[in-house]
Amino acid sequence: MSLADIQSRITSAEQQAGRKAGSTKLIAVSKVQPNENVRSVLEQGHKLFGENKVQEAAGKWPKFREQFEQVNVHLLGPLQTNKARQAMGLFEAIHSLDRPKLANTLARLAQELGNCPDLFIQVNTGEEAQKSGVSVSDADQFIADCRELGLPVVGLMCLPPAQEDPAPHFRSLRAIAEQNGLENLSMGMSADFEIAIQEGATHVRVGSAIFGARDYSGQAR
Ligand SMILES: *Cc1c(COP(=O)(O)O)cnc(C)c1O
Repeated sequence: MSLADIQSRITSAEQQAGRKAGSTKLIAVSKVQPNENVRSVLEQGHKLFGENKVQEAAGKWPKFREQFEQVNVHLLGPLQTNKARQAMGLFEAIHSLDRPKLANTLARLAQELGNCPDLFIQVNTGEEAQKSGVSVSDADQFIADCRELGLPVVGLMCLPPAQEDPAPHFRSLRAIAEQNGLENLSMGMSADFEIAIQEGATHVRVGSAIFGARDYSGQAR
């Protein structure tokens, strides 16, 4: 599918949900995609991208930023504390704030650097052992703790279990956000972004539907 196709599907989903046109931001997830495909999306004027790994983003985005203005790149994947400083210089937002140790590190760096990317707290709505994110029952407290640290928490993010109906997970994320006065919901990917928009997503993270399937053969995952 083309970028334009995805954008028009987003607009229809917004309409069907009775939401304002443009209320959902499209994050084009460029991880693992060949640079020429990313460049083509940049040339179409798209400005908002998502990456999963600090190292990969560091090798790609400083160069693109020299050539394209006002690009925003969001980190979607897990962040190790020893890469936090580097991440703060690479991304406009981090969607994977998921534990106290990382919150403390980001707060310390934010003090030192005088700025901080927008932060989304990742919630493990499916309570899956292998997935990051705070549990639903710990979310309110963790949000409060992050605010106490002065961190710019702007919203929540989730990645529902692969084999389940995502709608209840999106609803659960939205309920936690509303309860805590958070405006942004990062939810929905290629397979389910229209459902996410129905449930109130403000940021959908779409990779393969825009760029085609990812080819991991050339690199370590
Ligand atoms: C890879 C990834 C996406 C995009 O997935 P697609 O199915 O290709 O749209 C979205 N969010 C996160 C956190 C990802 O890691």
